[in-house]
Amino acid sequence: MKGKVRFWPEELNNMGFEQRKEHKERLMRESIKYMYDNSPEYYQVCFKECGAEPGDIKTIEDLRKLPIFMDKDRERQSMETSLEKYGHPFGLHVCCDPADIISTGGTAGTTGHPTYPYSQTQEDFDLAAEAVAFMHNEILGLGRGDRAFFLFPLGVYATSTLLPGIQKAGILPLPIEIRLGPQVAMELVKWTKPTFWWTGAAIVDFYLEGLKKMGIDPKDFGFKCIILTGEIGCGIPELKKKVEEGYGCRWYDFWGPSFTSISISCDSDEYYGLHNFAADIDICYEDLVDPETKEPIELKEGAVGEIIVTHLRKKASPYLKYATGDVVELFTSECPACGFKGYRIKPVGRSDDMLTVKGVNVFGGAILRTLQKLVPKVTGHMRIIKEDPSHRITKLKLRVEYAAGMEDKLDDLANEIRQVMKTELRVSPEIEWTAPESLDRPARKPPLFEKRY
Ligand SMILES: [Zn+2]
Repeated sequence: MKGKVRFWPEELNNMGFEQRKEHKERLMRESIKYMYDNSPEYYQVCFKECGAEPGDIKTIEDLRKLPIFMDKDRERQSMETSLEKYGHPFGLHVCCDPADIISTGGTAGTTGHPTYPYSQTQEDFDLAAEAVAFMHNEILGLGRGDRAFFLFPLGVYATSTLLPGIQKAGILPLPIEIRLGPQVAMELVKWTKPTFWWTGAAIVDFYLEGLKKMGIDPKDFGFKCIILTGEIGCGIPELKKKVEEGYGCRWYDFWGPSFTSISISCDSDEYYGLHNFAADIDICYEDLVDPETKEPIELKEGAVGEIIVTHLRKKASPYLKYATGDVVELFTSECPACGFKGYRIKPVGRSDDMLTVKGVNVFGGAILRTLQKLVPKVTGHMRIIKEDPSHRITKLKLRVEYAAGMEDKLDDLANEIRQVMKTELRVSPEIEWTAPESLDRPARKPPLFEKRY
């Protein structure tokens, strides 16, 4: 049935919770041995440093006791060292012959060099394609005869690894270069008649307005659905409603950076989070830690923690105890809409965006999303002012752009912002006003913080 999330591979649907756990632990023991044996300069060093042996790690509980082995900075370092020493960028944690890597992709390097976390051997490539194809065919009800309009803010570099899976599902992808601009992109839509759309939240919203200005009713495209990835969107009820009504179709949320934690939301008016359907490619939502102390937290309904990833089936440059920086809220109960029995999550923020205001944890992204509810009274652009490097602060200070025409009502507006944030985030900010269009708007994501130290 369309929109009802099931596990991939299919055999996982016939297992109970305990059986699935045992299955994953079996894969985990094999994968840890593989990573240890094939990465003498990285994973063997990590084990040695913490005084553990691969044989000590038999269960997920054992795995959770290990310290963090890698994060984005250490990954980049590992890649720089392998480039310098061995002439390839796949890191000291590469576990296969680098010549066996047949596909790659990754982040465009907004902070430092580009990295290649999406590197794949033929086996990795086929497995990832199988998972993505299953999702289209079996969960979303898309397949032969469908055409995917494929348009992303970062171009195809960070998302091209999805294309083979779309093709394996029998679907024709139409990757469109974003720099062509909305006018040309829309002409291409008219000419190629895609049946659904893969993109980011900001684009969907931007095009919704743009199309109306061009005299086009977005419903006329007849999209069966829109699939979002890389941004928070479906999780904002107002935005989900606006997009679904605007385009006249369901808006799904997909998550699977570098083929970790692969999840999709289900067919429901209410958003019940990302369902971890590809449940045996990694251990992710079972290994949540406190974003600050990195200590394991209890896995229960509503728990909030940072995801630590350990790959179970990856051959190229697999992760073992990788701190993603992504903080999520966990749901362990059965999905009320589709009955999915695996873990579900809602993205909360990034661990490096977290602030503790008099003991209350709040994320920069959540502050921004809350402020954006007050558009059009504000422009939706702001900065969080940091007066020292510590994330522990006693007063939250925001520099906020008011909208044109609001000059005489700023006191009332500041009160309104404080009220909304107090209700939703349990913090009451101090507002410093700035004129419309006065904050920088870089082409990539604008910074959340303004450092005054
Ligand atoms: Zn569901």
